[in-house]
Amino acid sequence: MRDECLKQIRRIVIKIGSGVLTGEGHGLDTAVMAGIAGQVARLRQEGREVIIVSSGAIAAGRNGLGLEERPRTIPQKQAAAAVGQTRLMYAYENVFAPHGFTVAQLLLTRDDLANRHRFLNARATIDTLLGYGVIPIINENDTVAVDEIKFGDNDNLSALVTNLADAQLLMILTDIDGFYSADPRSAPDAKLIHLVEKITRELEQAAGGSGSLVGTGGMATKVAAAKRAGQYGVPTFMLNGTRPELIHRALAGEEVGTLFLPGGSSLTSRKHWIAHTLRPLGRIIVDAGARAALETQGRSLLPSGIVRVEGSFDRGSCVRVCSLDEVEFCRGIVDYSHTEIRLIQGRRSGEIEEILGYRYSDEIIHRDNLVVLKEAQS
Ligand code: GLU
Repeated sequence: MRDECLKQIRRIVIKIGSGVLTGEGHGLDTAVMAGIAGQVARLRQEGREVIIVSSGAIAAGRNGLGLEERPRTIPQKQAAAAVGQTRLMYAYENVFAPHGFTVAQLLLTRDDLANRHRFLNARATIDTLLGYGVIPIINENDTVAVDEIKFGDNDNLSALVTNLADAQLLMILTDIDGFYSADPRSAPDAKLIHLVEKITRELEQAAGGSGSLVGTGGMATKVAAAKRAGQYGVPTFMLNGTRPELIHRALAGEEVGTLFLPGGSSLTSRKHWIAHTLRPLGRIIVDAGARAALETQGRSLLPSGIVRVEGSFDRGSCVRVCSLDEVEFCRGIVDYSHTEIRLIQGRRSGEIEEILGYRYSDEIIHRDNLVVLKEAQS
C-alpha cells in the first residue's frame, strides 16, 4: 500500500513550519534551511518538481522589530510578517543558489484562490515557474490577510496548494517526528504511528484533544490538512523537518514519520476547490426528498425541495446545503441570490420566470457545482 502510493510521484508540495525554520522561535535556522534545499535539489535532479509552502515570516520578522516576545496583536504580526518575509526569501535564495536554483515568491490570500480566474492564473504561474526550473515558495500574504480572507494556517494552505499545483504528494515538515498515539511528553509509552490508512473521527478527536501533544503542537491542523489533501487523492507525509534527510528516506519507502493515505474516492480539482477553498456564505435547508436526490442520485438542487434560506449571498456564491435536522451534507455554488431563492423556494422550476420575471436556470445549484460531502470524506 505504502510503496504503491509513492510510485509515480512527480510533483510534491513541501510545507515547512515556523518551528523547523526558526529553531528558537526567532531568527532563521539557515543550517536546517540549507539541508532542506539540498534535499529539494536532489528531488529536482531525480526529475521531480517541488513547490514549497513556507511559514516563518512572522517569526523571522520578530528580531527586525526588536520584539522580545512573540508578536501578539494582529498589526504587530502583520508588521513582523512584512519584515520577515523578505528575510525568509533572502535566506531561501542563499540556500538554493549553490545548487543553481532560482526561487520565486508567491503570496496568497484565500480571496485570491476563491476567485476561479485567479486560482487558474496562479496555477498557470506555478506551472510556468516549474517549467523554468524555478522553485515556487508560497506563503499567506499576512500583511493584508484579515480573518475573513485568511486560510487559517499554512497547513490548510498547503492542502489547498496540492490542488492548485495539481501535486501528487504533500509533505508537512514539522519539529516533531510524526503523529503519536498520545502526547509523548506525558505518556512515555506513546507510539509514533507510521501509517494512517483512514482519518477517522476518533483520530481527528485525538489530534484535537486537550493535553495531547498534538493539540498544542498544531496536530489538529495537520490532520485536517492531510484529510483535505486526501480528498484530492493526495497522500501526506508528516516528517521531522529538522532532519531533512528524512525527505528522501520517506520517499524510498522507509518507515519514517507518518504517512496518511488518501481516501478511496477523490474529488476533481473544481469540486475540491468548491468544498475547501470557497468560503460558504449562507445555508439552504432542504426537505428529505431533495436530500435523497442530491446525496444518492447525483441530482441538481431545485427550488421545490427548499424549505428555508439563511444568510445573505449573491448568485455565484458558495453555500452549505443542510438537511431538516440542520446537518450540512452538500456544498455548492448557487445560481440565484438569497432574496431570489426566498421568492421561489418550494415552487416548481417552471414557475421561476413567472415569479421573478426572468430565469437564469432551472436549478438553484447545478449538480456540476455541487459537492456531496460524504463523497469528499470517504
Ligand atoms: N504565514 C505565517 C508566517 O509565515 C505562518 C502561518 C502558519 O504557519 O500557519 O509566519
